[in-house]
Amino acid sequence: MKPDIADNLSRIEERIHLACERAGRNREEITLIAVSKTVPTDLIRIAYDLGVRDFGESRVQEAIPRFEALPKDIRWHFVGKLQSNKIKKIAPLGWVVHTLESQSQLTEIQKLEEPVQALIEVNIGEEPQKSGLLPEELPVFFESVLHCSNVHFLGLMAIGPQVDDPELMRPYFRKLKTLNDQLGGNWLSMGMSGDFEVAIQEGSTHIRVGTALFGVRSN
Ligand SMILES: *Cc1c(COP(=O)(O)O)cnc(C)c1O
Repeated sequence: MKPDIADNLSRIEERIHLACERAGRNREEITLIAVSKTVPTDLIRIAYDLGVRDFGESRVQEAIPRFEALPKDIRWHFVGKLQSNKIKKIAPLGWVVHTLESQSQLTEIQKLEEPVQALIEVNIGEEPQKSGLLPEELPVFFESVLHCSNVHFLGLMAIGPQVDDPELMRPYFRKLKTLNDQLGGNWLSMGMSGDFEVAIQEGSTHIRVGTALFGVRSN
């Protein structure tokens, strides 16, 4: 069954508004990134026609054809693991990279002609299998980022641990916000379908929402 994108979007907007109201924030402070990985292009276009302009992808080979097929006023966000050898495919197209995490990525970015807007991914739950930097690795890596003239640092991003109760995410979101403030980040990319209200309360500026908009992914 096809998801009702319009209905899903209005529910999400309602949730965002409520969360902003509770947190004393303005809706304009929050960008909704529609994470469209694995979603058929026609559904992405429906979301676009409803006014969504920020989309997120996590696989380079899927991202490029979408970028080419869809309107040029979309702001594209790369939220998946980004191998350094793929950077030259994504960055020159103007994508914002949310998953900066390695020296080899920085080396590749320095080879590009244009600067890249990027966020550093933090493994905020300190989970062994997760990508991103551990909080304690952040200061040294941030120094490298500052020395990389081709990186325009926007802020921090994290995918938190899987929890049943979104309230359990609060300490992780709070910690990411503190780290982001310490580094002077303007963007804070945190919160997904199940927990973005808590993320908004804790200072998120970019929520990344897939399932709540497009339905459960088939793969
Ligand atoms: C898939 C994905 C999302 C969206 O997750 P949902 O729970 O479907 O909203 C957000 N961020 C990243 C990095 C993702 O890979």
